[in-house]
Amino acid sequence: MNTVTSDDRNEDARPLIACHECDLMQREGFVPPGGTLRCCRCRAVLYRRRGRGFERALAFALAACVLWLISNAFPIVGLAVNGDLVETTLIGAVRVLYRDGMWPLAGLIFVTTILMPALQALGTVWLLLPLYLNRRPWRADAVFRLLRVARNWGMTEVLMLGLLVAVVKLAHIASVVTGPALWSLAALMLLLVAASSAFDERAMWMRIEGSPRGMPADTPLAGRTAAASGICVCHDCGLSTRGTLHHDHLLCPRCGARLHLRKPASLSRTWAYLIAAAILYVPANLLPVMNTSSLFGAQKDTIMSGVAYLWHSGSWPLAIIVFIASIAVPMLKILAIGYLAATANLRMTQRSVQRARIYRIVELVGRWSMLDIYVIAVLVALVQFSAMATIEAGPAAIAFGAVVVLTMFAAMSFDPRLIWDSAPPREERP
Ligand SMILES: [Zn+2]
Ligand SMILES: [Zn+2]
Repeated sequence: MNTVTSDDRNEDARPLIACHECDLMQREGFVPPGGTLRCCRCRAVLYRRRGRGFERALAFALAACVLWLISNAFPIVGLAVNGDLVETTLIGAVRVLYRDGMWPLAGLIFVTTILMPALQALGTVWLLLPLYLNRRPWRADAVFRLLRVARNWGMTEVLMLGLLVAVVKLAHIASVVTGPALWSLAALMLLLVAASSAFDERAMWMRIEGSPRGMPADTPLAGRTAAASGICVCHDCGLSTRGTLHHDHLLCPRCGARLHLRKPASLSRTWAYLIAAAILYVPANLLPVMNTSSLFGAQKDTIMSGVAYLWHSGSWPLAIIVFIASIAVPMLKILAIGYLAATANLRMTQRSVQRARIYRIVELVGRWSMLDIYVIAVLVALVQFSAMATIEAGPAAIAFGAVVVLTMFAAMSFDPRLIWDSAPPREERP
């Protein structure tokens, strides 16, 4: 893949763009099809140009719609006990949790594994099918923003890993029968990833609007930040618009997202979410996450004892994965966001590149903590043999789900441009 830095060449004819992560204005280099444009200061990806991405993204999304239907209509896994087969669908697992009074957990699982993947596939089709037929998509602005939310909160890939862990755990209890939805979910996961990586957002806006929209014509030269020139960069579509510091109600003229020079009260909101997550991290690890009652008595499992169980039963690769996803990642995420927020509070000027890298890693790995929530959901839905054994979700499961959601909110509230605001400005190379 070709990687281009945005100040590789210097011709005044090249359009000015602002980096969404560090806010530096720079002149855009030529990007060949399949190439990537990176920020010359923070190395954030500014633009990936897709060759024939349009048709491919549409085809992947249409196939994903069909697979979503299959994934939700058929059972995922079943347990064969004494000749009886107990099976569960995805919505069946949600229903069992809801019935047991675990509605926050049921809601979280419904949104991240059923609703958001559907919106991901439908939103892509909604935007790209009319364009393919040379028409304008209706309400492209709202659907585009919805698609961005759906990509953040759709977690099909984490669900797949959760199902794998659950199947291994269940194999110790009874014989596991895989259902058709397990395979279609795996294919759905791949198609959603393929559709979103083939989706060229800039090319889509070009086709909707007919011409590229750049910076306002009288923008001062590059090498300064957009905020210093009174330019707001849209968090969603990347469009640059002239704004003022005190204008709170400015909307992006292209996608309708709220615009601000910096996210309002970014650091105080980040700290609030972070402190709440750190407090809930304690009960999430100390209280039982799962209650098992059987003929041989009742057993309460914490997250750590679940890891120990996997380790002793010989599934040590899964034990390591669950340990990393459920115990290490949430704790490291709280520490990493705390470090980013504290250094931004102190207006630290050093190590900006490393801090920007930490921010990107936090955004990338945070979602994997949902793993244990999905494992619990599948176990609870399947192990419901009232006489022999029943598994219920424990109070720690809700606390743990809240930690995952709160740390995701904390990462979303943090404005990465604060990392660079105290850094010395970098002049564009002559
Ligand atoms: Zn940058
Ligand atoms: Zn926008």
